[in-house]
Amino acid sequence: MVGNMGGTVGILVVGNEILDGVVLNTNSKWIINRIKPLNFSVKETITVRDDVEEIAKALKRLVEDGCDVLFTTGGLGPTFDDMTLQGVGYAFDVPLALNQEALDIVKRQYQEFHNRGVIDTAEITNSRRKMAVLPNGAQPLDNREGGAPGVLLKRNGVMIFSLPGVPKELEWIFDNQVLPIIKQKVEGFFIERIMEMPIKDESLLAPIIDEVMEKEDEVYVKSMAKSYGEGGIRLWVSSRGRDKKEVERRVEKTVFLLKKMVKERLPEG
Ligand code: ATP
Ligand code: MG
Repeated sequence: MVGNMGGTVGILVVGNEILDGVVLNTNSKWIINRIKPLNFSVKETITVRDDVEEIAKALKRLVEDGCDVLFTTGGLGPTFDDMTLQGVGYAFDVPLALNQEALDIVKRQYQEFHNRGVIDTAEITNSRRKMAVLPNGAQPLDNREGGAPGVLLKRNGVMIFSLPGVPKELEWIFDNQVLPIIKQKVEGFFIERIMEMPIKDESLLAPIIDEVMEKEDEVYVKSMAKSYGEGGIRLWVSSRGRDKKEVERRVEKTVFLLKKMVKERLPEG
């Protein structure tokens, strides 16, 4: 790893439906692929149930482990089991209160859904108002895809972004609200290539990878095996650094070296 130019990210996935195998967590992967080229590195992801104490415990752990940008996904909606913001408040000792700016977003969204004929009434019920109850001092993040605003809370140098679980909503808020904020936090680049190698046995590749990584010590090479008999191994080559051209050069050189060594030493595959 080259210095600490990138932010260190922790992702907290919230939802019983994930841990009960009803819904596949695609949001983490989506977030990771968005922040990766910006040179953020994800330190860990944690998945917990809809439980205020579990949410708070996980957030504290992510901070203790050195994450300075946290994302939560899920649990921002109107129902009783949407309790992520309570967990955020509890973890960082911030009381919750109705946020007028957030309420304006909720009102606008329900009016819009009503105008489109998607819902019967635009009335702001208690359940809908709940989505505008944020930790004190937090900034609502506009949501044009759904009812619940995203939320940014800054505490002791840590940014905590809370995003909805519904992928389309999360993606809209991330691209339109989160990216412009976090882009300013990091510099540098992350470049990766994934290549297919016609090799049957991963263990034959191990010494080649060791040798290449010794030569190019700022490049990371990981082999990703398939089931025996399926044939082929995927190699993932990546590197990060301040100078984009230099990082690209390192990665391309490593790809070249790997291909050459495999061809020379493992002609049979
Ligand atoms: P909303 O504000 O729209 O109610 P929410 O923040 O309350 O969203 P959840 O109630 O946690 O979100 O989840 C809503 C739906 O989003 C789930 O039923 C599921 O289909 C999807 N979802 C939740 N978490 C994830 C995830 N990690 N990856 C993919 N889909 C998810
Ligand atoms: Mg919900």
